[in-house]
Amino acid sequence: MERDGSCISIWQSHNSDWTAASLPASTEYDVIIIGAGITGVTTALLLQQAGKRCILVDAATAGFGTTGGTTAHLNTIYDTPYHRMIKDFGEENAKLMALGARSAIGLIKNNISNHHIDCAFAEKDGYIFSLDETQDKELTNIIDSANRVGVPVELLQTNPFPIPCIRVARVSEQAQFDPVLYLFGLIKIFVEAGGKLVEHCRVEEIKQGEVLEVHTSLGIVNARAAVYATHIPPGVNLLHFRCAPYRSYVVAARLKDEEYPPALGYDLNEPYHYYRTQMVDGLNYLVIGGEDHKTGHEENTETCFMKLESHARTFFRVEEIAFRWSSQFYEPVDGLPYIGNLPGNGDNVYVATGYGGNGMIYGTLAGLILSNILVNGESMYQKLLDPNRLKPVAGFSDFVKEGADVVKHLVTDRFSAEKIKEFTDLARGEAKLVKYEGHVMGVYKDEHGGLHAVNSTCPHVKCTVAWNASEQSWDCPCHGSRFSYEGIMLTAPAVKDLQKIDLSKQT
Ligand SMILES: Cc1cc2nc3c(=O)[nH]c(=O)nc-3n(C[C@H](O)[C@H](O)[C@H](O)COP(=O)(O)OP(=O)(O)OC[C@H]3O[C@@H](n4cnc5c(N)ncnc54)[C@H](O)[C@@H]3O)c2cc1C
Repeated sequence: MERDGSCISIWQSHNSDWTAASLPASTEYDVIIIGAGITGVTTALLLQQAGKRCILVDAATAGFGTTGGTTAHLNTIYDTPYHRMIKDFGEENAKLMALGARSAIGLIKNNISNHHIDCAFAEKDGYIFSLDETQDKELTNIIDSANRVGVPVELLQTNPFPIPCIRVARVSEQAQFDPVLYLFGLIKIFVEAGGKLVEHCRVEEIKQGEVLEVHTSLGIVNARAAVYATHIPPGVNLLHFRCAPYRSYVVAARLKDEEYPPALGYDLNEPYHYYRTQMVDGLNYLVIGGEDHKTGHEENTETCFMKLESHARTFFRVEEIAFRWSSQFYEPVDGLPYIGNLPGNGDNVYVATGYGGNGMIYGTLAGLILSNILVNGESMYQKLLDPNRLKPVAGFSDFVKEGADVVKHLVTDRFSAEKIKEFTDLARGEAKLVKYEGHVMGVYKDEHGGLHAVNSTCPHVKCTVAWNASEQSWDCPCHGSRFSYEGIMLTAPAVKDLQKIDLSKQT
């Protein structure tokens, strides 16, 4: 399967056992679901099972986004700790979020057992460990508040991870699975239930109305409702100022001994490391994630992998790093996701975004929430997670400023290859921003020495993209849109490619 980066994740060896459809002519659907990651597929299946006629479309292929680059821990503890939820949203709402996590894991378990999905699901304990005094205070708050909202957490004497710590806490009833096998299993059921999945179908615009006119790269689809399950909604939206794009890095290591930890683990560093074990084709791997940074804000993405590998080698007997990849997530400004009506659109256009590192849970919960709203007219999570909520919190103005890095358009699409070469001293596989005659363009030299140039102005809101050497992509530092070296859009919110610049002709 394909993914939105050039590094190969541990899940990418899986093949689908269902067939995508071509875009059917002039059919009206009840719901179009846009994006075939865990959010879109879960939502589409629940709606189809409830009797709605659904079409699920993806700009690329199913699992192409972060669902193909996740680490798939299933937690009842979120990145936003319950003590923060209690402080900002009240204890009843924090309890509701705890119920949401349990319901999401419950739905995943039901889907797996009802439909016999073979996706390596396993219930595990989760261990959170404090490495210094500050982290230890935070651990106390995490334990107290989790117990207050009904998520049992207990202190233990020993850490099952070989990492020296001050104290360790155990959270029971956590789980893990193979996200792509689960995703493909759900798609099979969706297709068998009469749902349509169309791949390589990018939604470019929705014309509002009682019946929506959805403009895609393959033609127009009419639907009575639309769900943006694109991880971040495309276009320019209020939510781009409330969700900040981040990259997180993962290595999967084979160990010299067979001392693979039998649990899920987390330290309390900023950003934190996360640990689990996964068996693929009969071999165990230790999967470690961390080294997060804002998308497009790290000049040398290779150092993130180097730090993660060094961390792995410090605490485990690493034989080899078998896989390494990075992927994208979106931090919500007030700590909770945005699930419901898309701001600035009609009441038949929905969105789910701002999951932080908990999108397996939130993507599944979004399916439950949105299918309840669309089928029954309401959900008990609707008010709390309303994307239109405006909760003034510390840090909001910084979020807004992050979007302000705007540059001028490049108007020409043709430059002299000879002249550009004078300015580019690139090794094969390297890229850089080149200033030429007052313009900035992104130039990449491929393995054969060929130059590929793109307008470095992101088509979303005109920020300048930055090169991500690890994933070989142009990443936008403002709202996280990403593009291949040829300029093809990989990650929303952009809906257009970067403008290609022709270097073959002379000027
Ligand atoms: C490294 C890493 C590790 C993580 N680990 C965990 C974890 O252990 N547990 C956990 O709960 N969460 C984890 N997360 C978060 C979680 O993986 C994500 O939140 C989740 O996968 C998002 O799923 P999604 O379906 O919403 O989006 P995606 O999987 O990104 O899918 C969006 C889809 O929309 C498509 N699309 C985009 N624009 C358009 C368009 N205009 N038209 C049509 N289609 C479009 C894309 O091609 C893509 O396939 C992790 C995240 C990262 C980065």
